[in-house]
Amino acid sequence: MTTAVEAEVERFMRGLIRRNPGEPEFHQAVREVAESLTPFMLDHPEYREARIAERMTEPDRIIIFRVTWQDDAGCIRANRAWRVQFNNSIGPYKGGLRFHPSVSQSVLKFLGFEQVFKNSLTGLPMGGAKGGSNFNPKGKSDGEIMRFCQSMMTELHRYIGEDIDVPAGDIGVGGREISYLFGQYKRLENRFVGILTGKGLSFGGSLIRTEATGYGCVYFMQNMLEARGAGLEGEICAVSGSGNVAIYTLEKLIQLGAKPVTASDSSGFIHDPDGINEEKLEWLKKLKEVRRGRISEYAEHFERATYHEGKRPWSVKVGLAFPCATQNELDAEDAKELLANGLTAIAEGANMPCTPEATRTFLQARVPIGPGKAANAGGVAVSGLEQSQNALRISWSREEVDSRLRSIMLDIHARCVQHGYKGDGYINYIDGANIAGFVKVADAMMAYGVV
Ligand code: NAP
Repeated sequence: MTTAVEAEVERFMRGLIRRNPGEPEFHQAVREVAESLTPFMLDHPEYREARIAERMTEPDRIIIFRVTWQDDAGCIRANRAWRVQFNNSIGPYKGGLRFHPSVSQSVLKFLGFEQVFKNSLTGLPMGGAKGGSNFNPKGKSDGEIMRFCQSMMTELHRYIGEDIDVPAGDIGVGGREISYLFGQYKRLENRFVGILTGKGLSFGGSLIRTEATGYGCVYFMQNMLEARGAGLEGEICAVSGSGNVAIYTLEKLIQLGAKPVTASDSSGFIHDPDGINEEKLEWLKKLKEVRRGRISEYAEHFERATYHEGKRPWSVKVGLAFPCATQNELDAEDAKELLANGLTAIAEGANMPCTPEATRTFLQARVPIGPGKAANAGGVAVSGLEQSQNALRISWSREEVDSRLRSIMLDIHARCVQHGYKGDGYINYIDGANIAGFVKVADAMMAYGVV
């Protein structure tokens, strides 16, 4: 960064932090974008004169509400929920719902802000939003989850709609929760419309939606490797998490001939030196999706696998890394260890999993890093395809959706290369994704005038 760019980033960030105190995750997400965009904005005074950066960092609105529900013991519980409708310049709001005790306004603003760029990158007409609650689904019965979801939708239904805002899942919100939420919406509104994505296949869901984020992440990695004349075959990979994104990242890696050797949850990680194969993955899916057990059980079940309590998988010697659990799960020390062990590329299945210092370490080492905005956009892209199928009242085949997903990921890769190519042959996918995502939204905002 030149001194002029650095000074401009600092000036902008001082204002943003003053306007949004106590929101570190949001500051982090905006700073990363500001660092990519400032040199571009200095060359495009029209965006600066229209104050596009200030306008794009201010959500259209934030809805905050109480969710009251009753647990199995009959006790009344109250949680807080939010919907951050960030920007609908290029289409109805779209973005997931997260249920986790760490959910706060700052976390949802960071996720909503990133969603605006991600959705723009897909090429589909979708604005950006994010929502969720500090409700902790862990250890709750199905009945408790259902009552919470019904109570949440009783308020949320006023603010969403197929042409207004279409939520989906995220951490703690999978097929079960989407079904309870959709059932309640239908009951309240007496309308069967696609107001949520990630629905069950018997009520408007799309084939491949469940798999899309993980599959898309691996397709994006494949595109990054091919751009350097390399491939996935035989590559040893570290994957973190064991939720939706991690499971289907593992599945596609196995299908394409790579050898994933790790998985994790919030308690620790497992290392399987023989590789997680199809049969072991089926066992893991049952553990996580049906029994809702802990990853440590994998090491008890499969002989040569080891469990590492309280640790993350970045100390294992691998060529490729896929952080697929949560934000800030990979720091500068982890990045240095991965590089020392021969890492050649990283694709972010999760949103903002690398700390800014870790990202800088990868960039300095000239190792390609596919940011979440690009690498995990496959999920929202297939959500967009689910909306199209709902509107047309048709269902595309598995092959049709998968082929569209592959081609969307290839297009996203091309957009990143267009804006991220550095003179020395290195592709900075972070700059590429931020600039490409920005231009489409900014141009729409400019066209609308002062709104
Ligand atoms: P998920 O199914 O709920 O799985 C989350 C996984 O991450 C679980 O293994 C969980 O372990 C682990 N985890 C959560 N918080 C953690 C923490 N603080 N430390 C360590 N591990 C933690 O969620 P998901 O849908 O896979 O989402 C994972 C990431 O991908 C998130 O960043 C999400 O925003 C992003 N993403 C998801 C989608 C999608 O379509 N689902 C699309 C784009 C991006 P425990 O079970 O122990 O909590």
